[in-house]
Amino acid sequence: MYADIIVDISHEKLDKAFQYIIPPHLESEIEPGVQVMIPFGNGNKLIKGYVLNCTNEIKFDPTRMKTVDSVVKKQVSAKENAIRLAMWMKKQYGSTLITALKTVLPVKQTTKGIVKKSIVSCLSKEEWEEKIKGYERKHQVARIRLAQELCVHEVLPYELVTEKLGVSASIIKSMKETGLIRIEEENQYRNPVRVNHNQKDTKEMSPDQQVIVDKVLADFDKGEGKHYLIQGITGSGKTFVYINLIKEIIERGKQAIVLIPEIALTYQTVLRFSNEFGDRVTFVNSKLSPGEKYDQFERARRGEVDVVIGPRSALFVPFEKLGIIIIDEEHESSYKSETMPKYHAREVAFELASYYNASVVLGSATPSLEASYLCEQGKMEKFYLKKRLTGGNLPNVYIEDLRKELKEGNRSIFSRRLFELIEDRLSKKEQIILFLNRRGYSGFVSCRTCGSAMKCPHCDVALSEHRNGNLVCHYCGYGIPKPPACPKCGSRYLMGFKAGTQQIEEALWRTFPHAKTLRMDADTTRQKESYEEILSSFANGEADILIGTQMIVKGHDFPNVTLVGVLAADISLYAQDYRASERTFQLLTQAAGRAGRGKVAGDVVIQTYQPEEVPIVLSAAQDYDSFYQYEIEHRELMEYPPVVHMLGIQVMSPNCELAENVIGKLTEYLRHGFCGHGDKIIGPTGAQIGKVKDVFRFVTYAKHPDYNRLIQMKDELESFVEKNAWKNVMVQFDFDPMNVI
Ligand code: ADP
Ligand code: ZN
Ligand code: ZN
Repeated sequence: MYADIIVDISHEKLDKAFQYIIPPHLESEIEPGVQVMIPFGNGNKLIKGYVLNCTNEIKFDPTRMKTVDSVVKKQVSAKENAIRLAMWMKKQYGSTLITALKTVLPVKQTTKGIVKKSIVSCLSKEEWEEKIKGYERKHQVARIRLAQELCVHEVLPYELVTEKLGVSASIIKSMKETGLIRIEEENQYRNPVRVNHNQKDTKEMSPDQQVIVDKVLADFDKGEGKHYLIQGITGSGKTFVYINLIKEIIERGKQAIVLIPEIALTYQTVLRFSNEFGDRVTFVNSKLSPGEKYDQFERARRGEVDVVIGPRSALFVPFEKLGIIIIDEEHESSYKSETMPKYHAREVAFELASYYNASVVLGSATPSLEASYLCEQGKMEKFYLKKRLTGGNLPNVYIEDLRKELKEGNRSIFSRRLFELIEDRLSKKEQIILFLNRRGYSGFVSCRTCGSAMKCPHCDVALSEHRNGNLVCHYCGYGIPKPPACPKCGSRYLMGFKAGTQQIEEALWRTFPHAKTLRMDADTTRQKESYEEILSSFANGEADILIGTQMIVKGHDFPNVTLVGVLAADISLYAQDYRASERTFQLLTQAAGRAGRGKVAGDVVIQTYQPEEVPIVLSAAQDYDSFYQYEIEHRELMEYPPVVHMLGIQVMSPNCELAENVIGKLTEYLRHGFCGHGDKIIGPTGAQIGKVKDVFRFVTYAKHPDYNRLIQMKDELESFVEKNAWKNVMVQFDFDPMNVI
């Protein structure tokens, strides 16, 4: 037997493995991931290496091959755990080990020449307060915002002031010239925020919060890091629970990882954690350069920070004494990686935590079906935080039937109620959010008269319209020509919903010529920072109406918003996706939660062709638990995750025929060469987006209640693919896919 061994886990050399002979007495101990001592170089100095692979296949001259010296027994350091995690990810999700290692190990890079600008206050708090009075007389709102921040924080990062506080460079320049502030430049990467200490939150926990903290810590202190779910609406005190838990974990000498979707990691959140943990917390996000990110990970490795906050990749921070992992907004689909290995942060967190006996706490207002299912099975404990602590009343929710509007002669995209309420809010100078769910736009067809959608008779998902005019099911390949009229009611209004955010903005201009609008969607947010800019100018009252896609339902708090309109709630329901109902429910519930955050109770108008659809009715009632019961029964019946598991096998190639041929062979191999009773194979079919950048995509799904059975299939397919060595074809695996492609 021979072992492929890598000696240096630094980015550049990962691809280079050396082959060593495994001596018989070590054969039972050596397996992928094990750390070994090997003779290396001319002097045969003993160094550490990591076993990638064991094989019978000789790749070098065996007479010159060296022999493994010994196995390193202890596997304790963060690096070893990262390698163990990479092994697990390779097995669990399918990818090469190298790719998995590159995912979990921070990329070594040096930060050269990155200059960070900061704004430093030159005045005392009292002097600022005096200044603010002057600014108020002159209505200099940007200066007020900056002055107020500088009362609390002596030093602020420059970009934060220009982008999140919306203070222009010319204002900064003039304040600098009058000696109010200084601008500091430094080379080294620092924390995003430096705070004066003694800013800590001294509030007492509520009894409901205390119960959660006590239980998690009691289990932790027994050495049983368990899994918990906190279900609570925004403002119910989840973050305060996280902070209190982390404080206790730090007191026990341990460290914390907090995952927050990037879009929700707002300035307020950053400040809140910084106030509490000062220099001992650090933030990572996609705006950091790889070098900066590496620096932050190095600080963590050296024990200079106790808390790391960031998106899913923050899981891979090399903490030696991990005590807790928190995943906020755990239902977010951004927790699933879209590249190989296609891992889910929740599952990786559970695995990683098990190496350290660390606790995992999930939080959400609308937990994923997966999380609630785990609770139901007793694998996770659920807590509720039911009250909104910031005050504000729950909004009034109206469901407006668009079929009725059409019947009664209203062809506009605004129902009469929404129209009236927009008029009312504009006259009161209150703000409005109009929300359009763009996801699932692609091709689904429904009847504008009776609302029924064209569905596949075999799969209970919507058919989608192809360019040739056929309606096709992406699960089973079933297809029919598009009928000239609705099969249910005979109406000729059988079409997709065509309005995009731009059309809505134009319609608003025509109907309410005096309203100031802001639009936020993929077109207006192409630059990395611009979504923050749009949100903060809306928060500053620079527009009456914000129009946008799902991006706008998260993050910022807008106390002046008293009306939220959802323009067409059906669209996502019929996306060709088994998670469509769940997504619709989550989005509508969150959108509704945007109204009435301030003193005035808000109104929410949900426009729909399908007012009786369960996710719409239950989100209007903000009734998560009933929705869960309804949806989990559906998944059970239709055999979808989380009740059964699903493996997506994707074949991609610029050569369409080749891709189709390969997916055919893989499917055939699964169906007849490998599978037995109880395995379900669906496909092959062209992917929903059949061609991306001239690469054709085909897909087959396998379903089984036992995840491990799907791993076996994946392993079989991996060796089948390796044997065939097709050129110019890529095969990818996606377990429990977020989108059915
Ligand atoms: P979530 O994370 O669920 O949105 P937060 O923890 O941010 O909730 O709490 C919402 C608001 O309520 C915050 O302003 C927070 O300071 C406040 N808050 C949280 N817990 C308490 C408490 N025990 N007593 C008083 N105020 C609290
Ligand atoms: Zn119809
Ligand atoms: Zn079908």
